[in-house]
Amino acid sequence: MTDPHLSGLSGSIVHDEIIPARAPWAHHVKQGETLRIVDLEGNQAVDFLIYSAADDSERYSAQDTVAAQGNLFLREGTVLLSNEGRPLMTITGSAVEYHDTIGGACSCESNTLRYGHHTKSQHACVENFLEANLWEGRGKRDIVSNINFFMNVPVEADGALGIVDGISAPGLTVDLRAEMDVIVVVSNCPQINNPCNAFNPTPVRMIVVA
Ligand SMILES: [Zn+2]
Repeated sequence: MTDPHLSGLSGSIVHDEIIPARAPWAHHVKQGETLRIVDLEGNQAVDFLIYSAADDSERYSAQDTVAAQGNLFLREGTVLLSNEGRPLMTITGSAVEYHDTIGGACSCESNTLRYGHHTKSQHACVENFLEANLWEGRGKRDIVSNINFFMNVPVEADGALGIVDGISAPGLTVDLRAEMDVIVVVSNCPQINNPCNAFNPTPVRMIVVA
């Protein structure tokens, strides 16, 4: 039986792992390899950071990426740039029309501000990013503005941001080719107070092909 999640991928699989709902994840992806993220059950935000493996002080820059392409949304063809203006990864395929890089990562602080003090004990993306970064000695100061794959953050006519129902669906994918050796750090978003995960965090699958 063929695996529908591998459709269109060429090369040999060097890594294949499911990130449980609400969990952190980190993985080294070598230059030329492609990482596919599969939104297994649909409408699951995948909060995403990238660091250069050779020097992790070089890392993803939302500002440089948005400025270079003259557009707020990440789409097929978007080159994800570092704070030194160099390509880290390229979005080589996307079954979802666009992805967010301005909505940020949820935190205990933003949750209590937006949704009330009763959410203070809830797990959030910032804790996931911190945990995954600590495996390699990076700390809070290394967490920068991130990408939210599969998350729908439209910009309204008056400039306001929305966090609305996702535009993803079960089995949809995004493919990223590494342009240098990179470290990918992920928070499989645990948010349950807004529709970014359809109020129900679910697992995602990470496939790397060489
Ligand atoms: Zn989150």
